[in-house]
Amino acid sequence: MADNKLYDILGVSRSSSDGEIKKAYRKLAKEFHPDKNPEEGHRFKEISYAYEVLSDPKKRQVYDKYGLKGMQEGGMQEGGFGGAEDILSRIFGQDIFGGFGMGGMRRRQRGEDTVHPLKVTLEDMYNGKTAKLQLSKNVICATCSGKGSKSDVVATCRACKGSGIKVTYRQLGPTMSQQMQSRCPQCLGEGEIINEKDRCGTCRGRKVCNETKIIEVHVDKGMKQNQKIFFRGEGDQQPDVEPGDVVIVLQQKPHEEFQRNEDDLHLNHVITVTEALCGFSFVVHQLDGRDLLIKHTAGDVVKPGDVRMIPGEGMPHYKNPFEKGNMYITFEVRFPDNHFANEMQLRELENALPPRTPFTMPTGDHVEEVDMHEYDPNDKNASGGRGEAYDSDEEHVHAGPGVQCAHQ
Ligand SMILES: [Zn+2]
Ligand SMILES: [Zn+2]
Repeated sequence: MADNKLYDILGVSRSSSDGEIKKAYRKLAKEFHPDKNPEEGHRFKEISYAYEVLSDPKKRQVYDKYGLKGMQEGGMQEGGFGGAEDILSRIFGQDIFGGFGMGGMRRRQRGEDTVHPLKVTLEDMYNGKTAKLQLSKNVICATCSGKGSKSDVVATCRACKGSGIKVTYRQLGPTMSQQMQSRCPQCLGEGEIINEKDRCGTCRGRKVCNETKIIEVHVDKGMKQNQKIFFRGEGDQQPDVEPGDVVIVLQQKPHEEFQRNEDDLHLNHVITVTEALCGFSFVVHQLDGRDLLIKHTAGDVVKPGDVRMIPGEGMPHYKNPFEKGNMYITFEVRFPDNHFANEMQLRELENALPPRTPFTMPTGDHVEEVDMHEYDPNDKNASGGRGEAYDSDEEHVHAGPGVQCAHQ
């Protein structure tokens, strides 16, 4: 889909050079500047936006390929200034994907989305849940129908001449100046001012009132972390602005036992050496309350790090909850403590186990028997036999036996 809107705004072709775009922008910006043309504030915003995109090679590339929609998505990923979607719709109004600029019709703007995180458990995402959420939002004042005044008299803001934008110039050099736009501080970007005495008593001229509303959020089976649930048009209301959406973003609380990967569930299970060799049974508490009984026969050896799979015991597929992912169990094998058996028992054990690896004792003067110490890589103070004080963050570094504390 070839989207030419931004080029059309500047009156240039898709193949225009950077220089041509710049030239076209300068001419139009002068012509439609709010100082000269206060009624065309909207047009000026469009021109500025078109130039912002087309003068940036990266943005222009994205726009050429995907159109305004691409700008929207790209901006969302950057996640910067309240979402490009919002800026786009504020500039272009609702109909950015349709034919816009229909004979100077007033474009309806769209308000910002209200985003709320909702904490849910993995059980909620497995079984589904309806959560009630209390929201506070702005609604159009019923007393003044959103006019903000008693009399209906509205004065254009003199500071910005109704455009709602304050434009300032900064001299960068003898021939260069930078132009900056900000919200008009006098009218807070409204472009109009209501006389203090004339303000509506209910909303005090704000045009909107605060209201508490309870919404029901349906967490469907199989929904995922960061999944968004939209309540179209439930965002803050403002006069002449189409309300944005309320967006609920699911945030999964960590689960004690399971980690989720798409529709699969993963868990770790610790067994003893005895169980690893001689079989075992255990129970996994599934998220829907069932106890899954798992039996493993004797002689079928489970090694440390082995993974076993239980088909169909993962999370339900979103929108197709009868289909489910799998459950994966990673085994950890715990060995017994020192001296768990006497010599006779050890001999019996050795008889039952596979034979040792054959070993030939070396002989000669070059053979030297050395000591092997216990070593824990996680214990930074135990720096091994040589007593090298490599961990200088510590005030006292304990070296090998017989070496005194090294004072700094
Ligand atoms: Zn103003
Ligand atoms: Zn009011």
